[in-house]
Amino acid sequence: MPETKNKKNIDFNEWYNEIVELADLCDKRYPIKGMNVWRPYGWKLMTHVDQLIREEMIKTGHEEVCFPLLIPESSFQKEAEHIEGFGSEVYWVTHAGLNKLEERWLLRPTSETAMYPLFSLWIRSHADLPLKTFQIVNTFRYETKQTRAFIRVREIHFFEAHTCHVDFEDAEKQIREDKKIAERLFTKLSLPFIFSKRPEWDKFAGAFYTISIDVLMPSGRTLQLGSIHQYRDNFSKPYEIKYETETGEHAYCHQTTYGMSERILGALVGIHGDDKGLVMPPSVAPVQVIIIPIIFKGKEKQIYKACDILDEKLHDNGIRSHVDKRDITPGSKYYDWELKGVPLRVEIGPKDLEKKEVVLVRRDTGEKKSIPEEKSIEIIEKELGDVSKTLYEKAKKFLTENMHRVKTIDEAKKFKGIVELPWCGSEDCALEVENILEGNTLGEPIDEEKCSGYICPICSRPAETWMRYAKMY
Ligand code: ZN
Repeated sequence: MPETKNKKNIDFNEWYNEIVELADLCDKRYPIKGMNVWRPYGWKLMTHVDQLIREEMIKTGHEEVCFPLLIPESSFQKEAEHIEGFGSEVYWVTHAGLNKLEERWLLRPTSETAMYPLFSLWIRSHADLPLKTFQIVNTFRYETKQTRAFIRVREIHFFEAHTCHVDFEDAEKQIREDKKIAERLFTKLSLPFIFSKRPEWDKFAGAFYTISIDVLMPSGRTLQLGSIHQYRDNFSKPYEIKYETETGEHAYCHQTTYGMSERILGALVGIHGDDKGLVMPPSVAPVQVIIIPIIFKGKEKQIYKACDILDEKLHDNGIRSHVDKRDITPGSKYYDWELKGVPLRVEIGPKDLEKKEVVLVRRDTGEKKSIPEEKSIEIIEKELGDVSKTLYEKAKKFLTENMHRVKTIDEAKKFKGIVELPWCGSEDCALEVENILEGNTLGEPIDEEKCSGYICPICSRPAETWMRYAKMY
């Protein structure tokens, strides 16, 4: 069976670059660097991820909106830190036809400054709150580092939820809900992750605090898949998002946002894939079960019929299946569908028909077995669940084995992946650790007791918290 030229365990980055094109996810030949074309299979995968996000949003009372792509410069300029954070990354529109615009417009790098002037019109009284919205749109950031499909791009397929609340505590409640959404969503995607509270100097531009959602890629680098931000009233003041309280006073809203991107697809590719191609969790696989007829002369009709019957039964049970009737060898079909990461393969040939059996092959483990035809639906349903669980556990094991809590820099140097060191709270000390380890400050663990009885390995003052470091994408 053919395999990728690059091996995942030897050169992960090259393997990743090869697989995203080989599996028909994207085409990187578009003449603007970092703006890739979504090919049909990649786009199907992405829309399935979007659908899971949408379901979570709707379940938690968020409403979908769709704001314009262009933002006037004057709206963008209102929150000082935000401009500073994004200023060097935005694309500007300066002309309309032959006319120079009186005011420049920018392509949204994120949508706070597009939405908030409207939120200030929509929100009048406490009865309008909480306002919970989200949109799934493209955003644009002028990326100067080396681009990489789904991981570092200039046009980003982006999810963003924006909420407004009566006060800080209600916004905190939203953040607790966001964390639960992340847990449910990433479990469905078989992607174990960690929450970290980003350090002050690396939080989102304008946020009060930022919680990041990071996964560990097989290269040992972390990949940030999303972030949850508490804005407090940092944006509502400049954008005048005010409401009338029950006692008739005027108060500023407290706001949160929740962002995720196509990086989720990058994580699915990188974490679950192997040298035969993608391995997709059943929750998003465009085809969950591929049925391959094993044709023998004279038995064609019977075999196709058995395949069609199973296909229909699977559809009736809400399982995405497909019969591959192309005129090529079964071996070529196996290769194609393995490359695409289809979780289960069913083979039906004349011998199986005689025995009233079908052959079932798992993409993740390669395990192959014959199962009774009459029980095939229930077995397939169970196997799909097992594939999700096995993928999750394998990734979880990798994350656990590559995350180390240590006390000294020397110990930290021994490990790849994520290390946690005692931290005194000073930015200089964290940056010094970054230098020594040639990594980045990921952030503090959340929901945990403080780090007491340890000293900062740089300045020897008592540590306040643990701080995580890793090389990041
Ligand atoms: Zn220190």
